[in-house]
Amino acid sequence: MSDEKGTIVVAVGGNSLIVSEDRQTIPDQYEAAVQTVKHIVNMIASGWNVVITHGSGPQVGFIMRRSELSIGEIAPVPMDYADADIQGAVGYMFQRALHNEFIKRNIKRSAIAVVTQVLVDANDPAFANPTKPIGPQLDRPTAEKRAAKLGWVVREDAGRGWRRVVPSPRPQKIFELDQIRLLSDAGVVVIACGGGGIPVLENEKKYLVGVEAVIDKDLASALLAAKLGAGKFIISTDVEKVALDYGTPDQRWLDEVNLDDAKRYLAEDQFDAGSMGPKVEAMVHYLEQGGGEGVITNPQNLDRALDGQSGTRFSQF
Ligand code: ADP
Ligand code: MG
Repeated sequence: MSDEKGTIVVAVGGNSLIVSEDRQTIPDQYEAAVQTVKHIVNMIASGWNVVITHGSGPQVGFIMRRSELSIGEIAPVPMDYADADIQGAVGYMFQRALHNEFIKRNIKRSAIAVVTQVLVDANDPAFANPTKPIGPQLDRPTAEKRAAKLGWVVREDAGRGWRRVVPSPRPQKIFELDQIRLLSDAGVVVIACGGGGIPVLENEKKYLVGVEAVIDKDLASALLAAKLGAGKFIISTDVEKVALDYGTPDQRWLDEVNLDDAKRYLAEDQFDAGSMGPKVEAMVHYLEQGGGEGVITNPQNLDRALDGQSGTRFSQF
């Protein structure tokens, strides 16, 4: 079954599943997924064939922290396995939330999360320069203490506090792409590339080897959207629009951005490398590979943004 409006890739932010500092429990995150899913099901009901991707910055950090706290009792979790755990756990949240929303609205569809492996390059410069924030926001002394004790690299994250940062190599190829397309073309709502995908390297025998890193989910989602030939690509995060001079007195919200402008803003370093930067870069990659329209907005405005009434929209010209 393919819907009349074609394929849309919706990338849901890991941070947008955590609506506030006191709402970080698993049931709280599930509730946030339920709210987001209502808007996604509106898209499905209006004729879009939706493929969902999601981030996992905070969630992978939680798993890594649990692992660190239990050192000495249980063998630690390598980061690629934490990525896989999150694809299962957050995938389950979306799968269940979608199922329940379909039942509620009498929509005959199903959803499935696909464990997704993504190729990275061993020579990617990211391995020498970690930028991707994971885990909770910390105060500076705590962050510095853990950095010294656990060998973390820590940085200030978009003015929200200090966080651990890990290498974020670029996604080169999605191994399960054909399977995702097959399911999606059959009308199944696919949840894929969770947390940006599990980063793997290919050795000289073409065997896959997991890597301890976190791929940016926005870049992985752009690759997926481009390879699926999706006519639209939406990044759902925790701000309604993208701003120039963000967080300064000169801040200006953007409504429409074309490919040239997007590239120019990136060259001017307008966006933070650990948060908004990869989203705008993702839009550029998507458009450069022939994508239709891209949007960055928050979960509440997903449907309005699709109608051109909200969000920051990215187009070829
Ligand atoms: P996600 O989990 O959805 O990937 P991120 O935290 O990575 O979310 O990115 C969204 C955040 O980017 C926003 O909360 C905002 O604080 C920050 N941000 C940085 N630069 C900008 C900008 N120029 N315009 C809007 N938001 C920005
Ligand atoms: Mg992010």
